[in-house]
Amino acid sequence: MTRRELDVIVVGGGLAGLACAREVTDGRRRVLLLEGSDRVGGRVRTDRVDGFLLDRGFQVLLEAYPECGRLLDYSALDLRAFYPGAMIRVGNRFHRVTDPRQQPLEAALAVTNPVGSLADKLRILRLVGQLRRTQLEQILTGPIRSAARDLEEAGFSAGIIRRFFRPFFGGILLDPELEVPARLFRFYLRMFASGPVSVPNAGMEEIPRQLASTLPPQAVRTDSPVARLTDGGVQLVSGQVLEAPVVVVATEASEAARLLGDTLPDPGARGTTTLYFSGDRHGDGGPPSPDGGILILNGNDQGPVNHLAFMDRVAEGYAPEGRSLIAVNVVGTPTSHVDDGADGLVSHVRRQMSEWFGPPASRWAHLATYRIPEAHPLQTPDSFDPPLRPARLAPGLLVAGDHRGNASLNGALESGRAAGAQAVEELSA
Ligand SMILES: Cc1cc2nc3c(=O)[nH]c(=O)nc-3n(C[C@H](O)[C@H](O)[C@H](O)COP(=O)(O)OP(=O)(O)OC[C@H]3O[C@@H](n4cnc5c(N)ncnc54)[C@H](O)[C@@H]3O)c2cc1C
Repeated sequence: MTRRELDVIVVGGGLAGLACAREVTDGRRRVLLLEGSDRVGGRVRTDRVDGFLLDRGFQVLLEAYPECGRLLDYSALDLRAFYPGAMIRVGNRFHRVTDPRQQPLEAALAVTNPVGSLADKLRILRLVGQLRRTQLEQILTGPIRSAARDLEEAGFSAGIIRRFFRPFFGGILLDPELEVPARLFRFYLRMFASGPVSVPNAGMEEIPRQLASTLPPQAVRTDSPVARLTDGGVQLVSGQVLEAPVVVVATEASEAARLLGDTLPDPGARGTTTLYFSGDRHGDGGPPSPDGGILILNGNDQGPVNHLAFMDRVAEGYAPEGRSLIAVNVVGTPTSHVDDGADGLVSHVRRQMSEWFGPPASRWAHLATYRIPEAHPLQTPDSFDPPLRPARLAPGLLVAGDHRGNASLNGALESGRAAGAQAVEELSA
């Protein structure tokens, strides 16, 4: 295809590439999205294994994300929400932490639990109240420091940082030391406090699938990895050359660095590992709470597990009738462990789960392990300034992806849409 037939080539069909292609299409320009793998979705993919839905790494949609609200049709996604709050393992017991605005009575009863002091709980209330009254733009351009420093300066005790903030936000941001930008931590806190946390009943991949369905069918080409950028287009691994006045590189950060050379250094990455287990829903134990669809956190700072969820209790579509699906998350991609044998990661996790849930957990069958070394681009307080980095690198050459905004569904979509708008503007100019 040549410059006469095409206006924009988008390289990469993750959420950023899809949002970009949609913006270009909405701007009445012709777009071709080239995806290297067999399906669009990038890091948001779901595998079907023996009737279970296994997201490629535990992921959730925060319904308050503004860009997701703008681009996605939530009702068509058939979203199923987690119970608001979390169950935290401290010592040998589970304690429930809930949002006092959504569950006031329960929150009042939880005042004396050992997750944090009363002063800590009041500080959380105050911080959340303050964030709810603050414009998002203001939160995202707040002081440049790490989340750990932010929490210390706000007066939180070491206990609540260790038992709650580190497993909860460390699990979401894949950074247990909480070195991520405070702005991002505050943005997430505001998102969690402003709406449900959900998954589509048919798996997270429904999100990119819905976006792709809004594009003209000829606009997406899968199994088309791009080998290199050319002067005025791209060359595929197959050797084919395609040309367009605007090229948008919407791959993950390391691949963007490879394609763009010195123009855009690789920021580095944070990894995560998700292990999936199945059990008999009635015979193999279950969550330590009648509201089973709740996030369960490790507040003990011991053992490989950071957090887990009984996914079938959140969304019944994730498991066949009568079966449980347990998604267990380990921060990082521990290479010292192999998957099998008594010293393997699966055995370590199984032992910890048996301590928490009793002997039935030792019967859980291991379904799969997803190790994802490049789950998030590295996000540091300095790199997050400004919160959305410009898409334009050179005339006709743009870049999009979560590494240009923030590592989230929302950040990828926002960056993609901004690049699409910029592409339309370049063409008009
Ligand atoms: C395990 C895990 C858990 C997460 N949890 C959450 C969560 O709970 N909530 C949240 O909001 N976010 C979460 N995220 C982050 C979120 O999923 C990502 O930030 C977002 O999906 C990134 O989208 P992207 O389009 O920028 O990149 P990607 O999804 O990586 O898309 C890049 C695409 O480019 C393609 N590509 C690469 N090279 C080429 C090439 N040469 N030619 C053609 N195509 C190419 C790739 O195949 C891929 O499809 C999580 C991520 C992971 C991995």
